[in-house]
Amino acid sequence: MISIKHLSKTFTNPDGTQITVLKDVNCEIEKGEVISIIGPSGTGKSTLLRAINMLEPPTGGEIWVDGENIMAKGYHLDKLRQKMGMVFQNFNLFDHLTVLENITYAPTRLLKLPQEEAQKEALELLNKVGLAQKADVYPSSLSGGQKQRVAIARSLAMHPEVILFDEPTSALDPTMVGEVLSVMRQLAKEGLTMLIVTHEMRFARDVSSRIFFMNEGVIYEDGTPQQIFEHPRRSATKAFVNRIQKLVFEIDSNNFDFLSADTEARRFCIKYDLGAKADLIADVAEEMLFTHLKDIRPITVRLTHTELTSETALDFMVEGATASPLPQGPAMDGIRAKVKQVVEEPTTRGFRVKILL
Ligand code: ADP
Ligand code: MG
Repeated sequence: MISIKHLSKTFTNPDGTQITVLKDVNCEIEKGEVISIIGPSGTGKSTLLRAINMLEPPTGGEIWVDGENIMAKGYHLDKLRQKMGMVFQNFNLFDHLTVLENITYAPTRLLKLPQEEAQKEALELLNKVGLAQKADVYPSSLSGGQKQRVAIARSLAMHPEVILFDEPTSALDPTMVGEVLSVMRQLAKEGLTMLIVTHEMRFARDVSSRIFFMNEGVIYEDGTPQQIFEHPRRSATKAFVNRIQKLVFEIDSNNFDFLSADTEARRFCIKYDLGAKADLIADVAEEMLFTHLKDIRPITVRLTHTELTSETALDFMVEGATASPLPQGPAMDGIRAKVKQVVEEPTTRGFRVKILL
């Protein structure tokens, strides 16, 4: 359905310097595929999506859609706009139009659908994304997750053959990521062709038929989710997919704002889907900081999560210490019984107590 050959994109800055963002991108995308594009930021993922739908015309190579070269002179971009929907990080809804009007806008103008028919279909689509009751409100009264679901419904209203998603959940509060991903999961199940730039690794692993790992302006490695996440061939791919998410708190005294740290930790847990561990983390952190390590300040507390292996740990690091700050004897038994493991180990700068949850 889409065939990309030696695609390149070079930007020329106002001062004449050039930056080549896409070097030589090649891929074939079949109808019904769900492809997640992952990779470090700045590697050209957005530029690739914008090139594919000609929002940012490429500087070299070819893009074929349904057997036609869309970069050829004389190709009508209107045709492409109908075949290809796009969902942006920041929703891009029309703020002065109601939710319903946002959805009927393009079908009535571009597809020349009668108003009544467009409205009927818009309501069906709103129902599909769980927002039938919001038809008559303005986008400003919606949450981020609701706005993004409207944006998806708006895109579906054009009956595109493929929808390109550019980090559709990155601008959302973590509590709202799930509602958008579940709509996207449903679309994937229904067989819609989707190209999704995302940082949601578990989602990518679950829904995708293929993963493109972008790095240094090329598709550096591609394969099934199993190949990319479990048996990556190249070391940069491996490092990226095994990366660790961290939240760090430097606690220098008991005037530290523990309540907002707790809020941040809970957000982190929602974001990485650690729901069940959130209370345990709070519980262990509190007991450690106010009982076993209460006299140790400053102390650095680090919450880490390895998405792919689902390993979560709380580290308590004491700079300059040469021995474990933990009390000896049975004092820690309560914590040990609740967690997977407590590791006490020297580091290059001091001593660390690592609690695996
Ligand atoms: P990603 O989506 O992977 O984070 P982008 O495609 O947004 O990466 O950007 C890749 C690189 O291209 C970045 O270094 C960015 O600064 C540069 N870039 C993107 N758009 C432009 C532009 N319009 N002009 C100049 N440089 C750009
Ligand atoms: Mg981007």
